[in-house]
Amino acid sequence: MRAPILAITVLAACSCASAPAVQRPSCGEVHPQNDRGLVLYSDFDQFTAATISASVIDDYYDRTGSALGYSRAEAPEVWIVLGRSEQGATFDDHIIFDPSEGALEFAPLILAHEFVHWHSEGSAMQRNLPHVVMEGVSEWIAVDLTAEWSQARRVQFDRLLDAVRQRGDLPLLTSRLSLSRDAWSNLSGPELHETYALGFALVDRIGVDALREAAEQGPVSPKALLNMAGLRLDGGGL
Ligand SMILES: [Zn+2]
Repeated sequence: MRAPILAITVLAACSCASAPAVQRPSCGEVHPQNDRGLVLYSDFDQFTAATISASVIDDYYDRTGSALGYSRAEAPEVWIVLGRSEQGATFDDHIIFDPSEGALEFAPLILAHEFVHWHSEGSAMQRNLPHVVMEGVSEWIAVDLTAEWSQARRVQFDRLLDAVRQRGDLPLLTSRLSLSRDAWSNLSGPELHETYALGFALVDRIGVDALREAAEQGPVSPKALLNMAGLRLDGGGL
């Protein structure tokens, strides 16, 4: 059985290049108050989740772009889809949110994470930073903006890194900085959680602005990132 605290960790969000085999929901739609973006749902039971998601667009869509330093003009459609293996995912023209298994309570955290992916599409950061670090950027901004919902997240990541450290697996963990997006998405649950923690810790040490400035100069290697974070190449110091 998954611990509840880990249940909210399984964001497993991705910026996927192609649309998934999911039908565009057609039961109903909710417009954010600022009329930017749209939330679509496929069953009347999902109306509450759709309404909450629309309010999250109002509260966090523009702020995530400001924090990242890139903003897409077009706000996304958010599709409410149940039965996914992840709670949020970002695609070319929409974001999927699965509010089941208690995720609705954390909608601001989950959707803010996806909005960062959305804004970063086509940016120098997305092109030039390792995917693990882009996951860290998305999670760090989401945690920073939604502190009310995410206070436990930082503690959770610290505990995960502590366990890795005690196992002597910091070199293995930092080697995952070179994983492609596809390889990253194939990590098992525990490995995925630890890798989120690594990405978050690097962003916490380096800062979003410094990462953006580095990415705008060209590809940023794992070695350069570890240097920027003040860590040894084997992860020592983490
Ligand atoms: Zn993500």
